[in-house]
Amino acid sequence: MSREVLQDWICGEPVDTVSLEGPSLQDPNTGDLTEPMVSARSESITRALSTAAEVHRTGAWSGLQPHVRADILDQIANALEGETETLAELGAATTGVVISQTERFAGLVPLIFRKAGALVRDQALSTYDGPFGAVEVHRLPLGPALCIAPWNAPTAIAAHKVASALAAGCPTILKPSEWTPHTANVLARAIHKTELPAGTFQLVHGRGDVGARLTDDERVRAVSFTGGLAGGRAVAVSCAQQMKPAQLELGGNNPLIVLRDADVDVAADGIVTALTRLNGQWCRALGRVLIHRSLEGQVLEAVGGRLRSLRLGHSLKPESEMGPLIHRGHFEQVQGRIDELCTLGGTAHSWTPKPEAPGFFCPGTLITGCAPNLTTEEVFGPVASVHAFDTEAEMFELAHQAPYGLAAYIFGDEERSLEWARRFEIGSTKINGVTVTSLNPEAPRSAWRLSGLGVEGHRETYDFFRGIGVVGVAGRN
Ligand code: NDP
Repeated sequence: MSREVLQDWICGEPVDTVSLEGPSLQDPNTGDLTEPMVSARSESITRALSTAAEVHRTGAWSGLQPHVRADILDQIANALEGETETLAELGAATTGVVISQTERFAGLVPLIFRKAGALVRDQALSTYDGPFGAVEVHRLPLGPALCIAPWNAPTAIAAHKVASALAAGCPTILKPSEWTPHTANVLARAIHKTELPAGTFQLVHGRGDVGARLTDDERVRAVSFTGGLAGGRAVAVSCAQQMKPAQLELGGNNPLIVLRDADVDVAADGIVTALTRLNGQWCRALGRVLIHRSLEGQVLEAVGGRLRSLRLGHSLKPESEMGPLIHRGHFEQVQGRIDELCTLGGTAHSWTPKPEAPGFFCPGTLITGCAPNLTTEEVFGPVASVHAFDTEAEMFELAHQAPYGLAAYIFGDEERSLEWARRFEIGSTKINGVTVTSLNPEAPRSAWRLSGLGVEGHRETYDFFRGIGVVGVAGRN
């Protein structure tokens, strides 16, 4: 598989990047170093910012008729239809997520741009009655938008942000994670085959320092960030200085609850999915299993049986069900966390055979015996702690013990599970099942506490990038 040359796209043209000293990109399946990380030249960043400001000032994009903008978003979707195989392969090769899963994400990318086009076509002016006629509520693009994407699902997350910002009418700058920069270049190349006015979409490579410089710039008027807590906090602080809207989609330490009357097999399926999908490297992955004490032994045995036959292997092989972690540093961090929990009284259980390969393979691991107050941090890997409860009141406390509030899963009687879920201070709670995708793609996705700020979703992210102007005749009182 050939990889794109990692260039920036500034004002409609590809521009050379510079190689960085320090960590290099690695093949998660072999551990081999593949290529240096890259970054935008300083002058490219300066030019990207002035271009975005100019596109906004002149209305080169926002001034087009909505149906024209919608048609161009459809053109982007069409251009991306031919790239889904490449996106899936690059995603699997660079993140370690298995190809059967990256194919599903890649398939969503054109649909995300089509959905954005549909939102633009669907504009309706909302009005209120006023004493001298209608009071109109207009939603206008905020201005140059910055989209900062993480490495774990780089294509779909970047596409969702970029499509929403473009739909809103914003000149858009994408800064991908330099652990997974390649799919952003495929996206940029496809976008530049369309009639999108030059400079409306720009790709700027670089690490956190580049993300920070772009965030800090006053010409950037809105930042949508997905990533970890440290980066999210830095973006929040910078945006607060300028009262600039920030959408922060951060991490989680998500509880999966097995009530006393749960179906053990259904719960075990859910635990395995939540633990191993995307190799445990997703924000809604399993963090803590909370099991009614009477079912603990049975559930662990059922999970062990399933994990014993799970195929952990090369991420590009179609038969692999789970792949390696993304890079050596992350692998060592996850292993270090397992070791630490074991020194804190835990016992690590893993059942899946590791392949005879030098890659960063980490089987799904459950940790029993650790005090629950020691397992409240996100691991961001296929590792979860197990805690038994006796009463459902105790379960509710445990479910809210970690300082996050992104996702939860409850297995048990449907009605009672729903009753508990309705009281959870957690963004989304799924009953008797685990899926990577949302319960309903049209529904909002929200986060509580350290899991983030602002609401995601197609409509919500589109609205995030738009400011409100209320207009009406006041009369002479
Ligand atoms: P990071 O926070 O390390 O990086 C996210 C992005 O921010 C990258 O592009 C990174 O650049 C950039 N960045 C880092 N520091 C700064 C800064 N100070 N200012 C601006 N940009 C910065 O997260 P990861 O990529 O490691 O992703 C994993 C995290 O993301 C996990 O905590 C996970 O839970 C969370 N996540 C949340 C999701 C959600 O929807 N809530 C979805 C997916 C992941 P670079 O990588 O090039 O250094």
